[in-house]
Formats: sequence, structure tokens, C-alpha cells
Amino acid sequence: MTAIALGMPTGPKGRPETMTDAVMPTSGPMIDTFGRAVRDLRVSVTDRCNLRCTYCMPAEGLDWLDKADVLTAGEIIRLVRIAVRELGVRAVRFTGGEPLLRKDLTEIISAVAALDPRPEIALTTNGLSLARSAEALADAGLDRVNISLDTVDAARFAAITRRDRLPDVLAGLAAARAAGLSPVKVNAVLDPETGLSDATGLLKFCLDEGYELRIIEQMPLDAEHHWSRTTMITADQILETLRADFDLRPDTAPRGAAPAQRWIVDGYRTPDGKPARVGIIASVTRPFCGDCDRTRLTADGQLRNCLFAASETDIRTLLRSTEYSDQDIALRWRQATWSKLPGHGVNEPGFLQPSRPMSAIGG
Ligand code: SAM
Ligand code: SF4
Repeated sequence: MTAIALGMPTGPKGRPETMTDAVMPTSGPMIDTFGRAVRDLRVSVTDRCNLRCTYCMPAEGLDWLDKADVLTAGEIIRLVRIAVRELGVRAVRFTGGEPLLRKDLTEIISAVAALDPRPEIALTTNGLSLARSAEALADAGLDRVNISLDTVDAARFAAITRRDRLPDVLAGLAAARAAGLSPVKVNAVLDPETGLSDATGLLKFCLDEGYELRIIEQMPLDAEHHWSRTTMITADQILETLRADFDLRPDTAPRGAAPAQRWIVDGYRTPDGKPARVGIIASVTRPFCGDCDRTRLTADGQLRNCLFAASETDIRTLLRSTEYSDQDIALRWRQATWSKLPGHGVNEPGFLQPSRPMSAIGG
């Protein structure tokens, strides 16, 4: 293996420079040409969903993947095993679509929890059916959960998700807390027109209930291409709104590859007595691509080295052919990562939204 220094070389304009003379390593951590090591795998287990969030998918849903094209539990487990054993992945997050629609999710989590080394296992869900499954998922080995909730107002929830299901999400949150899936994080995306009015209520709710709120800037990944830079709610607007009602000071703990800029909310504590925090994820206005440590697997077995990647690497064909070993698949994955671009390009002239929407990539 050629030795390559990790880290993000920075060029004269503060932009990363690729290591043009580097040779892709075939062992050790999976890295790209900028020296970023991949540690975090996001696995979409389905593209289907039981909500219809306006910023994500149309009211009528999308053209779902054919069942035959969706990876089986055995295929997902094999790929996670390769990522963990051969490629240095340390954390796995299951997402979708709505991952709790997969009946075999507990089986998948249980197999991943049995891997050596055991990765950290997390789930991103809309929480609708979590009240029924939180305990079984925790028993299977799930460590943490992020539950999406954009408002605590029932009418607004129904308008945003096109389903009147707020009580189910609240029950899911409580079940996650009771099952010890902590810290229970709440992910919120704010609607451009009315979303700022939801922010303060959401934070109050999360502080009272002991959940950690993270508000995410809306990204150009909606199926209907309604996203607009001029109307999106920015991290600065979110901070200003929250500061009108809460005393926030920057959390100085190192952020690492975490996307959220965290703030300590003075006067509030978590259930285990630590200072309460709120996170703001400025994916568009302050991208954190330089520290990105993620690789993504879609439900139909395509590797994406970035949420916004214009191309994918087919891994399902290799998986389903007896000609390819785990080592062949690991090599293909390394090649897919090696070509990762320095940034998502959303703020570059000529940016084109990827053809897959967020729900089909896995958020
Ligand atoms: N259905 C699950 C859920 O909602 O948590 C998992 C999949 S969903 C695509 C994952 C996350 O992506 C959610 O927190 C959702 O709010 C977020 N999301 C969806 N569309 C988005 C967009 N256009 N910009 C930013 N976040 C988005
Ligand atoms: Fe479904 Fe999640 Fe998209 Fe909402 S954000 S429609 S819950 S996939």
C-alpha cells in the first residue's frame, strides 16, 4: 500500500487540492484523493414511505423500486460486513424511505451488531411505528435513533407530511427514550413559508422532553424540484429566531465529522444532567464537505460517494454474481470512494440536482 497522509490539503484559495500523484490504497481505511477517510456508512433499506413530506416527495408518492431490485437482508448484511471488516467503517445508519417499513430490519440490525468489530448502529426514521418496535430494535443492538419531526403543531404536521399522524410520532419518540436509544435526536427541516414559526415550539418541546433538536437547512433534493435558494430558511435565520427566546452559546467541543454546529441552551439540562444542546446543520450555507466521512448505499444496491453525486457505482451486480468475492466488492467500493469530489457543489455555478430525490438516496 502506498502511504498517504490523511487530512485535507488546502490550496491557495482555501480549496482542497487533490493528491494527483497518489495511488489508491488497497488496504487500510478507505480514502478519497483528498485524504478523507470513510468511517460512516448510510444504508437505505427501502425507497418507500408512509408519509409524504412536501419538501421530500409528491402527494402521490414516487415510482417505487421493483422488489426484485431491492437488496435482501442477506445482501445488506454482507455489504455492511465488507464495509466494517475490509474498509474501516465504524458507524452504520439505516435510513430510507422509511426504514421501519422493512419487516426484516430487526434481523439486519441484529446481524450487524454481531460483527467484529461491532460498528455503532443508528437509525433515521419518521417514527410512525416506533412505539411498536423501539424495544425490539434496542434489544437487537440499535444504539441510537434520529426521529424526523418538523413541528409540534398537529395541523401543521398534517399539512407538511400530508398525514394526520403527529400522535404516532410523539409516541415513537417516547418509546425510543424508554428503550434507551439515547441521545434521542429530533431532525427538523423547516418549511420556507411558515417553518420559522415552528422552530421555537420544537426546541421548547425537545428541551422539556429531553430530546436533542437538530434543525437542518433544506437541500435541493426534493423530488419536485421546488427548492429555491432565495426562499430557503438559512442557519443564520434559525439561530436568530431561537435566540429571541433562548440563551444560546457555542458548544466548543470538537465537532469532528459531525454536520451540526451545536449550541448550549443555558438553563436547560439533559435527562442525565448534562447541559442541553441544539444543533443547526448548515448544509447549504456552510457546507462541511471537507470533514465528510460518509459513504452511501441505496436500497437497490448503488454506491454513492456523496448525497449530491451525479453518478453511482453498481455494487448489486457484483453481489448477485458468484464470480465476485468480498475482496472484489471491497475494491470496487474503494474505487467509488477514491473518485469523491471535494464538495457537493450546491453553491457552484451550473450545479445540477441529482436525479434521485432524498427519499431514494437515503438521508
Ligand atoms: N423517512 C425517514 C425520516 O424522515 O426520518 C428517513 C429518510 S428521510 C429522507 C431522512 C431525513 O432527510 C429526514 O430527517 C428528512 O427530514 C430529511 N430530508 C428529506 N428531504 C430533505 C431535503 N430536501 N433537505 C433536507 N433534508 C431533507
Ligand atoms: Fe418519508 Fe422521510 Fe421523505 Fe418524509 S422525509 S416523505 S418521512 S422519506
